[in-house]
Amino acid sequence: MACGKRIYKHLFGPVPSRRLGISLGIDLIPHKTCSYNCIYCECGKTTNLTSERREYVPTAEVIEELDSYLSESPRLDYITYSGSGEPTLHSGIEKITRFIKDNYPGYRVALLTNGSLFFDKGVRDEMKDIDVIIPSLDAATDIGFMKIDRPCSSLKVEEIISGLVELKKEFSGEFWLEIFVVPGLNDTEEELAALSKAVHRIAPDRVQLNTLDRPGVVDWIRAATQEELEKFAEGLGYERTEITGRPSSRSGVESFSGDAMECIIQTISRRPCTVEDLSSILGMHPNEINKYIQLLIEEGRVAEKREERGIFFVSVE
Ligand code: SF4
Repeated sequence: MACGKRIYKHLFGPVPSRRLGISLGIDLIPHKTCSYNCIYCECGKTTNLTSERREYVPTAEVIEELDSYLSESPRLDYITYSGSGEPTLHSGIEKITRFIKDNYPGYRVALLTNGSLFFDKGVRDEMKDIDVIIPSLDAATDIGFMKIDRPCSSLKVEEIISGLVELKKEFSGEFWLEIFVVPGLNDTEEELAALSKAVHRIAPDRVQLNTLDRPGVVDWIRAATQEELEKFAEGLGYERTEITGRPSSRSGVESFSGDAMECIIQTISRRPCTVEDLSSILGMHPNEINKYIQLLIEEGRVAEKREERGIFFVSVE
């Protein structure tokens, strides 16, 4: 693989995470398997829309990779279930968390999840050893849910909200609820009132408002402005609400890898590439590529172009 990094199949990073500092990613789900097909997803369209839980990748293989990586005592703020699909669909998640906690108890574990399976008590119980759960909830009406998250037909937003309410009551770790603000869809009076009611029922430790960094699956949505985010926070009326900031520069990102950044620049200066192209050329996880691309866009070194095959990145140096 290019850039002199060792290849892991199920681990990626560490990546600079806006909320979790230096974060080692664990990807348990093949691209792109998810119970939602969100219009803003940076991982592309869901090709396997499912709520079926199974061992999508071998649990033993993930544990073996973690053992190899963590035995070198890397400096990490979190080990995070994330990646290119919904991690709670994997039936081995409890066993993997238990392995980390039993063998490397100094590391904190986080879960980024769409929260769609927590109506099931069995799934909630499997999360008990995790330190921070960050579920998302983008709408609290059926219509808003269908428009933004485009879920599996078996999933109902009211059941999902009830599952989050139960999880918050049972879970002893940190619980941060993420809302992805999509102007014109979930910031209307009706949607905001329903979301506000749901958020007060769930009572998360924090609500984090997020918006589009980069083009999503569809081209007709745009990022919320700072003013719109502030208005949204006001309409939500939940005291512990914050607007999540992105790392403003590479100097603020301790896990920043200059090598990785240069590899990306060199590759796209030869020809425009999608995230998937870069991932297969450089052997880096798409989420890792996404983090660096974001920094490069902010620095004005890379621009994006929407083509039929997807979003391409071009060098502007
Ligand atoms: S839940 Fe996450 S991975 Fe699934 S489609 Fe939505 S943004 Fe993408």
